[in-house]
Amino acid sequence: MKQSIRTRLLIRVSILLIVLFLINQALEYKSFRDISIENIRNQSLIIAEIVRDSLTTLMEIGEIDKRYILLNNIKENKNGIEEIRVVRGENVISQYGKGSPEEVPKTEEETYVLKTGKTYEKVVENLSKVEYVLIIPYKAVPKGKIDCLKCHNVKAGDILGAIYIKTDLTAVRSSAFNTLMSTSVVSMIIFLSTVFVIIKFFQPYTEFFKRLKKGLTKAKEGDFRERIFINTNDEAKEVADSFNESMDKLCSTLSSIEKKVSYLIGGNYEKSNNALKDTYHIVNELVKIYNFKKIVEKDATKEDIYIRLKKLMKDMGVEKYSIYEVDYEKNRLIDIDESVKWCKDVVFSNADMCRVKRTGSEVISEEYACVCPNFINCENGEAEELFTCIPIYIGGRVGIILQLVYSKEEKEEIRNKLVFIEAYLREVAPVLEAKSYMEKLKKLSLVDQLTGVYNRRFLDELVPKISAFAIRKNTIVGILMVDVDFFKQINDKYGHAVGDEVLKKVASIIKGSVRQSDIVVRYGGEEFLVILIDIPEGEAEAVAEKIRKKVEASRIHVDGAILRKTVSVGVSEFPKDSDKFWQCVKFADVALYKAKEEGRNKVVRFKAEMWENEEY
Ligand code: GH3
Ligand code: MG
Ligand code: MG
Repeated sequence: MKQSIRTRLLIRVSILLIVLFLINQALEYKSFRDISIENIRNQSLIIAEIVRDSLTTLMEIGEIDKRYILLNNIKENKNGIEEIRVVRGENVISQYGKGSPEEVPKTEEETYVLKTGKTYEKVVENLSKVEYVLIIPYKAVPKGKIDCLKCHNVKAGDILGAIYIKTDLTAVRSSAFNTLMSTSVVSMIIFLSTVFVIIKFFQPYTEFFKRLKKGLTKAKEGDFRERIFINTNDEAKEVADSFNESMDKLCSTLSSIEKKVSYLIGGNYEKSNNALKDTYHIVNELVKIYNFKKIVEKDATKEDIYIRLKKLMKDMGVEKYSIYEVDYEKNRLIDIDESVKWCKDVVFSNADMCRVKRTGSEVISEEYACVCPNFINCENGEAEELFTCIPIYIGGRVGIILQLVYSKEEKEEIRNKLVFIEAYLREVAPVLEAKSYMEKLKKLSLVDQLTGVYNRRFLDELVPKISAFAIRKNTIVGILMVDVDFFKQINDKYGHAVGDEVLKKVASIIKGSVRQSDIVVRYGGEEFLVILIDIPEGEAEAVAEKIRKKVEASRIHVDGAILRKTVSVGVSEFPKDSDKFWQCVKFADVALYKAKEEGRNKVVRFKAEMWENEEY
């Protein structure tokens, strides 16, 4: 773990203070010890001198026997002396005898001093006691007030004996320890004061660094709301101020970007705490939407755009969806992708059963599961899945509907995606609208304005496709040439307008008599060509007969009059009669001519013998 500056400083200062303290204590102890020993040594030397002089005096006055009293007195003087003895050297023993047992050298050190004439000193230290031992040799001095040679049979410098002084220093040591203890207490107070001052001094900086760290961490995550306040008047304050200023600037810039971007996206998108990431994400989406628009603008047909929309749904991770087109001519919904239908069949025959088409606004099932009862899974007011249907306006009315289907768990996710999906749709809608108009225009140029059936131009476009299809699939295409009998009379008798009405009625009877997939073309003035796609052999004639009968049975109400008309029909079959489509059309015309010849209001199937020319 990383340590703060304060902790590091505290650790260093503490170590330094402790080391200083220990060195100080050690030095103090050593000097105390040295001084104590020096004192004791001096004291012992003085005592040794006094003893020597006293012994000389005692000897001179013949009171040497009283020497024990002298030594005992010294010992009892409470100056710490524990043991004091005078031991005899060889010369004294040989002259005066061994003396008392105390005067016989006992230790090696005494023997050593007597032998070498060197002073010996030793400090004996253990936990319970400290003792100082000093052994000083007495050497024969020839002259002065003490003339040893007066009484001793020795030469000057010979060793007469030694004095052994053992002093107890335990009390001295205790007092040294007491002194050390009091200096320790003082050191501790200094130490704690230092720590306190450091902590106190660093308090605002510790807080400053903490806030700076927090602010920068948050900024890294795109949250620029953290600010730092510090009560010092130094560099830290300058850093805090400049940090706050930068954050203010970032916040205001981002929020103005965000406002503009929200406006462009046209809704509230899901925001995280990371304003930077959010903005990046949104700008990215906007660029994608812009590019999407550029691409779809170049698409050739509405179908191409639908393919792009499907790809978009896939890219956005929307799995269940449908795109419906509103067919206003037949007032029904067309599912552009037949394989997936999320609505009940009824909307495909009556567009008003679709709630979006009816109301013109978005329908969301999140509050009421069956807000649209024609959602496929809706039973008894309950639906397993949720749906959102979005209208796309074409020419001021609902032209396309995008339906998203999702589970309750996916609700939030879809909600968030919806803002973007709608943004895409807003861009695509005008392109779709333009394409719709184009398609309508194209269709108009192929449709006969009076009767609403296709015109011959359409037939020209269609024939290559139909013939290729029939040959590939090996099926029959029925061709009917329908002509109104004595049509001219209508014009002559009732006028052109009535003639037009009759034509419209006949066209609608023909359209109503054939399948949706069959094609009715206004071939000439009052002549219709009917193309029956994929019809069983021989059936075309029956269809022609059906048309004939229906026309015959119909009553046409015009200008207060009721008209009755009949038609004649020529029938041929492609590729049965010829593998050339246009030749089959001709054959149907030939058969029609035959029907007219045979008295009209008749169906005639083309037969080979009706055609004399070899080639069409
Ligand atoms: P037939 O039984 O032999 O077919 O007799 P018909 O009178 O129907 O035949 P004809 O070809 O002689 O006349 C067709 C007429 O249809 C001629 C034309 O004036 C009329 N006609 C063609 N196009 C239109 C149209 O768009 N509107 C109206 N009212 N009449 C049309
Ligand atoms: Mg006619
Ligand atoms: Mg005609």
